[in-house]
Amino acid sequence: MIDFSYLAKVIRENRTFLISTHVNPDADAIGSEVAFYRILRKLGKTAYIINHSALPYNLAFLDSENIIQKYDAEKHAALFESVDVLAALDLNNPKRLVRVEDAFVNSSKVKICIDHHQNPASFVNHYFVDAESSSTGQIIYDLINETGIVQLDYELALPIYAAIMTDTGSFRFDRTTPAIHMIVARLLEVGVDPNYVYDQIYDQSHFGKIKLLGESLSSIRLAADNQIAYMVITREALKRSGAQEAEVDGFVNYCLSIRGVKIGMLFFELKDGIKVSFRSKGKIPVNLLAEEFGGGGHINASGIRLAGATLNDHVAQIVEAAEKYLAVEQKQ
Ligand code: 5GP
Ligand code: MN
Repeated sequence: MIDFSYLAKVIRENRTFLISTHVNPDADAIGSEVAFYRILRKLGKTAYIINHSALPYNLAFLDSENIIQKYDAEKHAALFESVDVLAALDLNNPKRLVRVEDAFVNSSKVKICIDHHQNPASFVNHYFVDAESSSTGQIIYDLINETGIVQLDYELALPIYAAIMTDTGSFRFDRTTPAIHMIVARLLEVGVDPNYVYDQIYDQSHFGKIKLLGESLSSIRLAADNQIAYMVITREALKRSGAQEAEVDGFVNYCLSIRGVKIGMLFFELKDGIKVSFRSKGKIPVNLLAEEFGGGGHINASGIRLAGATLNDHVAQIVEAAEKYLAVEQKQ
């Protein structure tokens, strides 16, 4: 259980805050940052949001004040020593801050982590982590609800709704509980329009993204008796389509939409290395698969980034490593 009164105390007793989140931020990362920022601003605090990655264009509607900044060492390094509190949201390992990691970890200021991943690394002074929570956005909602630190209004409800909607897979994943629907009811009561949020996030794609999706779907291969499906996206395919790196978010889910497939994977070639996304059905723990290769995540959604690695060296090896997790479920 999170000690929200302690989190409220940290907020009340400090004046300036710097918020950051993981590389390739999703709507939970951005939504919870913006909601947390707005709580702080309502309380008269000074706050900054500084991320490794640029704001994805489909999430720009969440940042109507244009406050999210992309980390620039020259411009921002000093801030990490001048604010009172550093807050890492929606991540449990400082590596996921990428270029922000050093400035964050080396700062002498108070550090907090607000998150919903299991087994956080040791990198902050205070953890506000609930691994049972659907999303970091839900935790920000709980903070408001349990402490009454500010009043819930549309400005707060919109980013929180976006966070919950996306991290529950539009209200279909395991953590889509009655409690979540009660929270969502409160968010709609203050004016959130589900149609608008869904449209902004999922139905405003650039044509290049859809072309890349087509190529990615064509690249799908099956393995392990058709229980594993994996897609591969090369730099060439990315360039050809004109899509941006962040736009592949969500492609991996198509692997799981094939009948009989229990583990889906996306191998994505980076400028220097590869990124692999894992998704699974039921009790298959792809977080353990990711951990084998130094990554992490949740039971049904996890990932790794391997610097300097190539697709050639890793695709077959990782597909093979995944096979044993199919049996993990069969035993249960
Ligand atoms: P995605 O495949 O959407 O990028 O990531 C799915 C989930 O896997 C994320 O929410 C995060 O929890 C986890 N994840 C992805 N990449 C990494 C990584 O490189 N390291 C760790 N520790 N977790 C990751
Ligand atoms: Mn999240």
